[in-house]
Amino acid sequence: LAKQRGRNCVQVFDASVEASLRQKQELLRRLAQALEQGEFVLHFQPKVDMLERRPVGAEALLRWNHPEEGLRPPADFLPALEGNELEIALGEWVIRTALEQVASWRAAGLDLPVAVNISARHLLKANFVADLKAMLDEHPDITPDRLELEIVESTAITDMNAALEVLTACRALGVQLALDDFGTGYASLAYFRRLPVDLLKIDRSFVRDMLSDADDRAIVLSVVHLAQAFDRRVIAEGVETTDHAQALIEIGCRLGQGYGIARPMPAAHIPGWIAWYSATDDGAAGRG
Ligand code: C2E
Ligand code: MG
Ligand code: MG
Ligand code: MG
Repeated sequence: LAKQRGRNCVQVFDASVEASLRQKQELLRRLAQALEQGEFVLHFQPKVDMLERRPVGAEALLRWNHPEEGLRPPADFLPALEGNELEIALGEWVIRTALEQVASWRAAGLDLPVAVNISARHLLKANFVADLKAMLDEHPDITPDRLELEIVESTAITDMNAALEVLTACRALGVQLALDDFGTGYASLAYFRRLPVDLLKIDRSFVRDMLSDADDRAIVLSVVHLAQAFDRRVIAEGVETTDHAQALIEIGCRLGQGYGIARPMPAAHIPGWIAWYSATDDGAAGRG
């Protein structure tokens, strides 16, 4: 009897695995179609100098503009792409589209560096650097330092030597490099000092509770000191309130990004937002 029940369990398990595999296949098919039909869009979230109330860049964040369900966040579809060829095709679309946006803002008189998120698989694929260079070459009017690549710490340590080589070559092209979600991975300090990154992004989980949790505040402070000691820039993610902005400025972290400053928005809203932000004196800047 037990054996029979066991067999049934295996069958149930198989059936549900099969169902979820089918679902994933279907989602992948829809995502390929979405890329072909232009359903992906980039939204942009400003990065600012909170002390001077000055924009320093914008992060491109991927959205799927689903014809029936509306705008869907990356968490809804990026996991399904992991390990699939489409992940790279979409990653290349993101870089190309971000560069086009930099160029079009520039033509309109707005000089704004844009950051894109790069997946591990994309970064470590063959010819990543040559392909990136080709995309940059299509925009001779844009200097490469207007493009910033955000890499999560875990990507940088998956295959350390390969990552080091690629990142060093990207730096040589002149693009900026940022270590995203910093503090959540396990990069050793010895490895960190070899990483050619320009910017550390303090993970928003530490920023969120830094006002109430002494440990989180200590972590934020340590990352700021680490950045200063190694002559890297540092930015706080997830700045949700004026109090956060104020505390960060006091700690020595002037750069911030978060809902308390601006939510991610369509590209068309960026120039108006910047004009407003630069002209006003209140809000998240916490300028005393
Ligand atoms: P990330 O790179 O760390 O991006 C920041 C995420 O935090 C964004 O979520 C942003 O909307 C959200 N965020 C910004 N400020 C706040 C805040 O004050 N509070 C809170 N709670 N959240 C805030 P989003 O757009 O859903 O993206 C999630 C993640 O998806 C990104 O995390 C990034 O890892 C990934 N992602 C987004 N776009 C791309 C892309 O084009 N390519 C790849 N490979 N990954 C992407
Ligand atoms: Mg990012
Ligand atoms: Mg991040
Ligand atoms: Mg994050």
